Amino acid sequence: MAKAKSSRYISTKVKAEVIARNGGDFCCVCGSTIHLEWDHIDPHSYGGDATAENIQRLCRRCNLKKRHKVPCVRCGDLLLPSASHCLTCNARQPARRSNRDAQGWSFPRRLIGILLLLWIVAYLLGHCGQANRNRTLPPRVQTTTNSND
Ligand SMILES: [Zn+2]
Ligand SMILES: [Zn+2]
Repeated sequence: MAKAKSSRYISTKVKAEVIARNGGDFCCVCGSTIHLEWDHIDPHSYGGDATAENIQRLCRRCNLKKRHKVPCVRCGDLLLPSASHCLTCNARQPARRSNRDAQGWSFPRRLIGILLLLWIVAYLLGHCGQANRNRTLPPRVQTTTNSND
């Protein structure tokens, strides 16, 4: 049996589970039976397996309305993945920031820090080098003692 490579793949077993949980094949939001689509409740779970817990039946209209929003952990109201608190019940939401977002913020900041440090070091080195060059060195007295005394 060829295994589905796409993480968006939803098995017929999962589909049957979702329909059974729903009590029928209709949109779980508005009850529509036309243009039904399979929806990942938590969009960040795309990387994992499509389980019945994370799949729901939505009509195209409700799916478009939902887009990339995620449900509140308490009341199920749809929120932006970046929301820290639910606008409806004020429940605190788990951190849903993806790793890519976190890297996107910290990487340039770290790079700027390194560049600034390098610039400071280069400036100091250049400054010292110039000071040494400008300084008129006193004529060196030959201190090398001859061994013939
Ligand atoms: Zn609907
Ligand atoms: Zn809520």
